[in-house]
Amino acid sequence: MHLVCPHCDAVNRVPEARLGEGPRCGACHAALFEGKPVALDAARFRHHRAKNDIPLLVDFWASWCGPCRAMAPQFEAAAKLLEPRLRLAKLSTEEAPDVAAELGVTGIPLLVLFKGGREVARQAGAMPARQIAAWAEAHL
Ligand SMILES: [Zn+2]
Repeated sequence: MHLVCPHCDAVNRVPEARLGEGPRCGACHAALFEGKPVALDAARFRHHRAKNDIPLLVDFWASWCGPCRAMAPQFEAAAKLLEPRLRLAKLSTEEAPDVAAELGVTGIPLLVLFKGGREVARQAGAMPARQIAAWAEAHL
């Protein structure tokens, strides 16, 4: 499978059976999974969305949004539950308003799940980690 490195954005090839064995990036040698969401900007979001063979779960948030800040530790905990089956990422709608507009993001926090680059589900509102994980798994 193709996996985009969360550190240097290199596209790695990792056998699916070895996803859980702590794979490292062939380019920068950092761990491909660290149990936490990756903060993406617009360009990196497009790259990760297009090149990852594992589903990408994105938390759309903004610094002024209280519920978003409250959900941040829950989303981070969900990364520990869902990696390496999914890649979790965060995208600030303040830093990437073009992406938010493109996807029709009107309310945040908003979770959007992408599979093979296509949106398969979205869910608005803050959720605890276990509920985030259950929701994502229900759409895999
Ligand atoms: Zn790397």
